[in-house]
Amino acid sequence: MAYDDQNIFARILRGELPAIKVYEDDHVLAFMDIMPQADGHTLVIPKTPAETLLDLPADAAAYTIQIVQKVAQAIEKALDAKGIVLMQLSGTAAGQTVPHVHFHLIPSSIHELGRHAAQMGNQEKIAGFAEKIKAAL
Ligand code: 5GP
Repeated sequence: MAYDDQNIFARILRGELPAIKVYEDDHVLAFMDIMPQADGHTLVIPKTPAETLLDLPADAAAYTIQIVQKVAQAIEKALDAKGIVLMQLSGTAAGQTVPHVHFHLIPSSIHELGRHAAQMGNQEKIAGFAEKIKAAL
């Protein structure tokens, strides 16, 4: 399917919508999930326009996973996370709701995850976690 450049993450990348960012470089952006499944739930997205992991060019995938690891290490340090769930949904059939490829980093256990994209988080609290993660990067 053709990439929809009006999706929420494409608009965040263009600066048309706000996001609580923790990391950005020329190729990747990491920001806090607005409906976290656990405290510190962070999203890492390549700037390459691709809908799913299956569409993402291999070099962009390889670089993005390095930043996923870097942000995961910062989350572990900043929030004293004992474990981090790395989740990637490709396709609406898998439950993907935003059609721009992204990696979820959720400091939690697979057995304790909150519901997916179900409830708006407290933005002040989320911003507090973001500050800690940024400081650890
Ligand atoms: P998906 O279901 O596509 O794997 O995940 C999309 C994620 O994006 C969900 O966890 C959802 O909470 C989050 N999300 C949806 N809209 C926004 C938004 O406008 N800003 C941010 N920061 N996260 C969003």
